[in-house]
Amino acid sequence: MSSLLLFLFLFLTPSSTLEFRYHNNREIQQYLVEINASNPDISHLYSIGPSVRGQELWVLALGLSPHRHTVGIPEFKYVANMHGNEVLGRVLLLQLIDDFVRGYRNKEDWSVKLLNSTRIHILPTMNPDGFDESDTNCLFSQGRANYNGVDLNRNFPDAFAGLRKQPQLDESRREAEVRAVIGWLRMESFVLSANLHGGALVASYPYDNSNGGSELVGGASVCPDDDVFNHLAKVYSHNHASMHRGDQCRDSRLFPEGVTNGYLWYSISGGMQDYNYVWAQCLELTLEVSCCKFPPQNQLPALWTENRKSLLAFIMQIHLGVKGRVFDGSGVPVQNAVVEVKGRSNMCPFRTDKHGEYYRLLLPGEYVFTVTHPGHKVLTETLNVPHGPDQYSAMKHDFMLRRIPATTVSPQANPTEANSTEANPDPQL
Ligand SMILES: [Zn+2]
Repeated sequence: MSSLLLFLFLFLTPSSTLEFRYHNNREIQQYLVEINASNPDISHLYSIGPSVRGQELWVLALGLSPHRHTVGIPEFKYVANMHGNEVLGRVLLLQLIDDFVRGYRNKEDWSVKLLNSTRIHILPTMNPDGFDESDTNCLFSQGRANYNGVDLNRNFPDAFAGLRKQPQLDESRREAEVRAVIGWLRMESFVLSANLHGGALVASYPYDNSNGGSELVGGASVCPDDDVFNHLAKVYSHNHASMHRGDQCRDSRLFPEGVTNGYLWYSISGGMQDYNYVWAQCLELTLEVSCCKFPPQNQLPALWTENRKSLLAFIMQIHLGVKGRVFDGSGVPVQNAVVEVKGRSNMCPFRTDKHGEYYRLLLPGEYVFTVTHPGHKVLTETLNVPHGPDQYSAMKHDFMLRRIPATTVSPQANPTEANSTEANPDPQL
């Protein structure tokens, strides 16, 4: 083979060379740059900001329109390694990227259909500085925190602390990695997400915290979308080789079907999954993917095999429920319309984004929707929701609002107008 042909061969087949080992931060960056360069049609590499020590937090977006949002295509994300010494997630997400790209190039149905219907953002390490400090112990927490010694999964704004009138840290004083994720959530309207940890084998879901109010049920802190979260967690655990058995780690408690309410396990304040759900209307799970925080390298192929099906099945759940747009009386899509589902009193009501879009993950069934927007009549519609993931699309439904004649508009007609993206907690919670 001539050297030119050899070069082309190596350049065009980057996905066949990802080794099962722990890549350091520089190697991860190099891998992402290479995969992006060789797959510009379906990938987009960007940074959400630097870590405390100035290492970029690189995200690879995969999809048919990788650079920007497409109306009707939901935004998904996976985040790994926010605890620097919990490292399997880094390996799983690199393998996942490799798998997606190879599958797409080979025209494999699963990859083509997922990338056709979903934009998938992957952040292999949220805490590269912590990783640099970590040791390979299964249990110890050397490297868990960021460079400033702060646990990033305790550093997000906490809605329950707000309800208790506890002072919130000013955003500018939060850790660099946390600020980067908060900015990321403002930049993209994520619908579904998971962050990958280690040290247990369980899929955990909100809430992680409580205000001691009516959300506390049987030791769990139950959120308005508990049925959906329980389903999402079981999709992961039952597609995993052993997580669903719930008893796989020594010295760990029993988790029925491999899932748990976060608070029921142990409460945390300032966690990332509650922040995603409460403040950014993105449903997020915390996935504990290995009993050992730093598994021996020779176990990595088996651990990837155990998690691969779960990782893909979980992404498909982004197509649960209903999606669409809200149009005003002139037929123009409107931002910030409130789209509520009866019986689900979310602390921050779900709102349309800048494209006038909404996404509501719901299990199949009948739901009463109420849509409100200033200057328009409250719209109530009942929708029958089928199972979307099989079709790679949630049910599509647009809401057409009708304007209130100008003479009858009063200041009280739009009680939801004043809110920004900040929380407007329901005082009953
Ligand atoms: Zn962790």
